[in-house]
Amino acid sequence: MKTATGTTVFTNGQLIDGTGKPPVADAALIVQDGRIAYAGPVAQAPPLPPAVRRIDARGGTIMPGLVEAHWHPTYFNVAALEDLDIKYPVEYVTLLAAHNARLALECGYTAARSGGSLFNIDVWLKKAIETEITLGPRLAASGREICGVGGLMDWNPDFRKIGMEGLVLLINGADEARAAVRKLVKDGIEWVKTYPTGDAAAPDSNDHHTLCMTFEEMHAVVATAHNHGLKVTGHCRATQGIKNALKAGYDCLEHGTFMDDEALEMLLARNVPVVPALQFEHASIVHGPEFRMGQKVIDGHKETLEGGAESARRILTAGGRLGMGGDYGFAWTPHGTYAKELTFFVKHVGLSPLQVLTCATRTGAEIMGRSHEFGTLEPGKLADVLVVDRDVLADISVLEDRGHFIAVVQGGAIKAGKLARPEA
Ligand SMILES: [Zn+2]
Repeated sequence: MKTATGTTVFTNGQLIDGTGKPPVADAALIVQDGRIAYAGPVAQAPPLPPAVRRIDARGGTIMPGLVEAHWHPTYFNVAALEDLDIKYPVEYVTLLAAHNARLALECGYTAARSGGSLFNIDVWLKKAIETEITLGPRLAASGREICGVGGLMDWNPDFRKIGMEGLVLLINGADEARAAVRKLVKDGIEWVKTYPTGDAAAPDSNDHHTLCMTFEEMHAVVATAHNHGLKVTGHCRATQGIKNALKAGYDCLEHGTFMDDEALEMLLARNVPVVPALQFEHASIVHGPEFRMGQKVIDGHKETLEGGAESARRILTAGGRLGMGGDYGFAWTPHGTYAKELTFFVKHVGLSPLQVLTCATRTGAEIMGRSHEFGTLEPGKLADVLVVDRDVLADISVLEDRGHFIAVVQGGAIKAGKLARPEA
């Protein structure tokens, strides 16, 4: 992805730099050739060259672009498990993924980590975004996921004779786990996404207290992935699944739902980040009946929401790290509503807006392994910036409304927001 040339200055707003420091009122952000040259009070800003582009934040907020830490580009209005892979052919899903990528950028997300995709679409989507064939967040790709045979992602009954290989590599034992990772190495992914545990969505065979992979399988995944420079994450709800993942050397946990004291201690010892994805649970409870979700499923979501919220609070209080991302792409959590996650953490989990924004920017970039490049507004970093015409700390839900976005900026170039539209 190219960076802009020349100098741009953003003024007339508060600066939230993403480090967790309190906001700077009446700030200036100076961008030189796509990188941040200055971020601080306007009164102390260095002199500007004569030819400079000025962006007026209209009394609002200048902040880092958001990072979606658990994004599924190929999910599209998923209402049943089958919709994840056999609703549409891969050709159409590829177009939907490109559409979702553009939408995510328009929603202020300048970077995203894939939580798994159909076939290898996210790897190629990343390439298309990097070469500017299509607009979207800077991506970390995961490709197909790994799950034990009979586990959460192995839902199609054998009599249907439908293979699942487009979405998930199903394994039995450590050898097959290694073989699956090696396939993904060839695909060019960066994060190996696994299913150590079940979920409330599958109450009869793989509920949220069930394990879907053995420790040996998980350990084989990690050893193979790390050998090839890949990172490993997993869908972890059950306590024992969390502990297995931490012991096996996972680099991140998705959900981290039922953390006991020992699990929390293990997590903190290696400072492993967690992406709770709680708005999905909340929306499942609220909208489940409309989508004919069974009572057992809804009750399970209540349990995982409660457990997940409690774990998230404990992790952050104890000095751990949370990423903000949310499995968006279900019919009740459609693409484009990603910022509901941030509102949920403020309104229902009890985090402060500044804490949530730090999770959604700096920690997101850390999880992607790219915090030296973006995630905070500090000199030398890429100018991935979101300019909002409101005080996002006073009401974080303004981030749900793209109508408030003056500019969504990647590498100093305005890609979305009012200033990207000529009529605005
Ligand atoms: Zn997911």
